[in-house]
Amino acid sequence: MITGKNYIGEELSNKGDITFKTFNPNENKETEPVFYEATINEVDRAVEKAAKAFYSYKKKTDVEKAVFLEAIAIELESNAKLLKEIYRTESGLPEGRANGEFARTTSQLRAFADMLKEGTWVEAIINKAEGKPDIRRMQIPFGPVAVFGASNFPFAFSTAGGDTASALASGSPVVVKSHPLHAGTGELVSEAIIKAAKKTGMPDGVFSNLNSKGIEVGEWLVKHPEIKAVGFTGSYRAGTALWKLAMNRPEPIPVYAEMGSINPVVVLPSALEEKADFWAEQYAASITMGCGQFCTNPGLILGIDSTELNHFIQKLGENISKLVPTVMLSPGIHEQYENSKSEVLAQPDYSAVNKFGGQLNPHCGRQEIISVSGEAFLQNKNFHKEVFGPFSVVVKCKDKEQLKEVIQQLEGQLTGTVLNSGKKELKEYKEVIDALTETVGRIIFNGVPTGVEVCAAMMHGGPYPATSNAKFTSVGLTAVQRWVRPVAFQDCPQVLLPEALKNENSLGILRNINGKYTTDSL
Ligand code: NAP
Repeated sequence: MITGKNYIGEELSNKGDITFKTFNPNENKETEPVFYEATINEVDRAVEKAAKAFYSYKKKTDVEKAVFLEAIAIELESNAKLLKEIYRTESGLPEGRANGEFARTTSQLRAFADMLKEGTWVEAIINKAEGKPDIRRMQIPFGPVAVFGASNFPFAFSTAGGDTASALASGSPVVVKSHPLHAGTGELVSEAIIKAAKKTGMPDGVFSNLNSKGIEVGEWLVKHPEIKAVGFTGSYRAGTALWKLAMNRPEPIPVYAEMGSINPVVVLPSALEEKADFWAEQYAASITMGCGQFCTNPGLILGIDSTELNHFIQKLGENISKLVPTVMLSPGIHEQYENSKSEVLAQPDYSAVNKFGGQLNPHCGRQEIISVSGEAFLQNKNFHKEVFGPFSVVVKCKDKEQLKEVIQQLEGQLTGTVLNSGKKELKEYKEVIDALTETVGRIIFNGVPTGVEVCAAMMHGGPYPATSNAKFTSVGLTAVQRWVRPVAFQDCPQVLLPEALKNENSLGILRNINGKYTTDSL
């Protein structure tokens, strides 16, 4: 049952007077029950519990933490039916998406558990030589982490999503600032985490969940001296506000904010010679997937002006207008979509390609495509802005040089995509592809940017303003590196060294000893 209360560690609490409800965009009505926004005192208690829990949680072995993460996945699965039902009610997202995101969330938890059981993630390095100090280094957790649930992924980027899974894997307790659009999903997921923590002997305070519908709870959380790092996915406006807040603390802390992207797609001439219709179909589906509410949504398509490009644009427009739109996550996000789209459409020098024009539920996001010349795009930064929803701009560049110039003018992006079918062409456009690589965190060949695999090699990040720190990913196993810092032990007695750094390699992990990777003991 959903109580509407906050989880302050294991305790359910509703001391505040501010309440709110979630909203069902499909039925256009509020849902029950009411949620109680956390008070400043409840925020303090959650963080103090997390700080206390840190002392025992950081001492848990990797195998113990792995058992905890696996137990969360099991608890979620035991309540899957209700979780998916509430997820769909609060987000308006379809059944297939609920199933996919749920499976991704549980497999993500298990992937971090496997990483812990394997153990090499601590990056143990040992330098030992005659006449030199004995120096041994590894990664250790920062301390309590604040996680902001993302509106567009109520399971996979929210309460038990990648930020929480990776922070718990690192040995850091987590305090979640629940997203108000899916507070019920957040509470049920929190219940599963708390049950798993109790069953696996984790300390009270290893996880808390705070409700709020305004910015204060998040601000208090980021300012709390015991919070040591922040994970965020959302808008540029909120991400930079939180980053500035964290930098202005007496003790500044890192904010890993993923703030969006327009994900340029470079369509090289060879891609259109034989497969223009195929790509037009693929991209119509990618642009409208999840009603465009993905940070990897392809918002910008770049090509060289030609008959083939015009044919592709026409087909893309035809396909776009046929797909039936779905509701957006909330009336507020729908309104922001319409407003930011209108700002772009108020600019001069573009051509309307096509849009969905039928009658719909009031909260559906209608997809739309426009095209501009390379010249107009270079002169007007309004065409470069993210429109969070199913909207895309196609840029017709006059030649290869202009295509390169357009890419060089773009801000940092999460992804860049290259469509081509000729090997020779890849050489010819090498400088264009190099310029794209400079701009993005992930470069995709002959595919669509929507869809982010959870694996060790994934990079879901990118140069500012796509993220606040291009060195880190928020998806995949190396996301754990956001919550740890290296510490070097110099001439430390064996008895005081962490297990990963002792002479005997009892964990059997891969270590770098004097420049060679080995699982041998010293
Ligand atoms: P948001 O406005 O970025 O908010 C995300 C979270 O941050 C919310 O929980 C919000 O709290 C909190 N917040 C916002 N401003 C804050 C501030 N100044 N200080 C402290 N906390 C703050 O994202 P959203 O609500 O999910 O959607 C709004 C827009 O964000 C969308 O229309 C879209 O443009 C963008 N967005 C982008 C992505 C992406 O992946 N790029 C994902 C989601 C959303 P409250 O809600 O409680 O006020």
